[in-house]
Amino acid sequence: MIRLAIHGGAGDLAAESTDTREYRAALRRIALEGRAMLQAGAGSLDVVERMVVLLEECPLFNAGVGAVLNRDGQPELDAAIMSGNDRRCGAVTGVMRAKNPVRLARAVMERSPHVMFMGAGADALNRELGLPEVTPDYFITEERFHQLKEARARGVIVLDHAAAFDPGAAAGKAFVPGDDSAGGGFGTVGAVARDALGHLAAATSTGGLTNKHPGRIGDTPIIGAGTFADDRSAAVSCTGTGECFIRAQFGHEVHARMSYCGWSLERACAEGLEEVRRLGGRGGCIAVDHEGHIAVPFNSTAMYRAWMGADGNVHVAVGPDDAD
Ligand code: ASP
Repeated sequence: MIRLAIHGGAGDLAAESTDTREYRAALRRIALEGRAMLQAGAGSLDVVERMVVLLEECPLFNAGVGAVLNRDGQPELDAAIMSGNDRRCGAVTGVMRAKNPVRLARAVMERSPHVMFMGAGADALNRELGLPEVTPDYFITEERFHQLKEARARGVIVLDHAAAFDPGAAAGKAFVPGDDSAGGGFGTVGAVARDALGHLAAATSTGGLTNKHPGRIGDTPIIGAGTFADDRSAAVSCTGTGECFIRAQFGHEVHARMSYCGWSLERACAEGLEEVRRLGGRGGCIAVDHEGHIAVPFNSTAMYRAWMGADGNVHVAVGPDDAD
């Protein structure tokens, strides 16, 4: 039984009054490619990596091309990947030259004896391993540059999708990590899959927050927080206020609640999000469990997402109730 889900970030848009057609079309195209791969017998790791590569290369989302910029106007990209079969995992943080941070994360997992690389060392590894390299301007789009200028002028740190959520507002709403009164959106991308052999995998990639302090790291590359997979329970990829997902240990807690308490995927994810809310954060996750259940919950007003469940069809949704 093959399954998949992808996300392009969660946030606070009014889904019914925002034109999300382009986002939906991109999510559908990418999920359909993932489904075709799984149908052809591809392993879940290959599928989540490929879907995240496609999301990184799509400028609509806050990862790879079109990633948000830090206070110094630089993209600092984070990514992680995990195999549920054997708990192998790889993560990179603060990379600026690896064209596809998720590919580098996978290379860390498979071609180095380590789990996590940072900054210049990670970019150097990317080169050593012969993976595609770019200059940082490759990632920078005009829209992100304007978002940064606006955020700097206002002296705020901004979660992504705020501008996209409200095209009239150049930079969305101010975000203070841990402050639930802040609005805004999140734009990380992620994928989870279950392949025909029952192996689960998760991958996540992000530019983090607009105007973030250089060196700031969110939940995305933290195994057990924003990214986690274990064939005995579930594969999980998160988006939202990274600081709170780290404090909640979101991904591993979903695994623990399922494994030790016997909870369903849905209940484990819902309780994880409740913990994030208690800590002052918002966002959501996509998850698939060993039995093929899919959960795509969020506690913001929207989350860009697509999934293929038991009916075999790809569904796309942005708001709570607008799946097609
Ligand atoms: N979770 C990401 C971070 O904190 C942000 C996001 O989901 O957009 O870096």
